[in-house]
Amino acid sequence: MPFPPTPTSESSSHTGQCHCGGVRFKFTISPPLHQYPVNSCNCSICSKNGYLLVYPFQKDFSLEQGHDLLKEYQFGSKHVWHQFCGECGSSCFIRIPEKSALLPDGSNSIAVVNTRMLDDFDDEKFHINKVDGRSF
Ligand SMILES: [Zn+2]
Repeated sequence: MPFPPTPTSESSSHTGQCHCGGVRFKFTISPPLHQYPVNSCNCSICSKNGYLLVYPFQKDFSLEQGHDLLKEYQFGSKHVWHQFCGECGSSCFIRIPEKSALLPDGSNSIAVVNTRMLDDFDDEKFHINKVDGRSF
């Protein structure tokens, strides 16, 4: 499976917020969310935070509110920043630096969003893609 998934002619748009509502965002994603492989990983941080991740392009993502509330957490090899609301602690996004080895060439402008923050969150409709991050 390519990462991120290859866009199709269809897309869907979503809004989300952290638990306290201080952090608000919106994005458009293709394939649409009900067809998108949502990553569920068993590594330590994904398990603790309950991440169910999707990867809209950065150009299709906007943080509407809460820039000042977001705090960042790094661990291990410190390749990425886990962003959470400093008020309510909700794990919202993962920030991947540009030119990261984690990303294939040309796709260094994606946002990593925890779908659990979505206003229309419904994991019954998701195509969950199990990722064995614990083994990496
Ligand atoms: Zn919050």
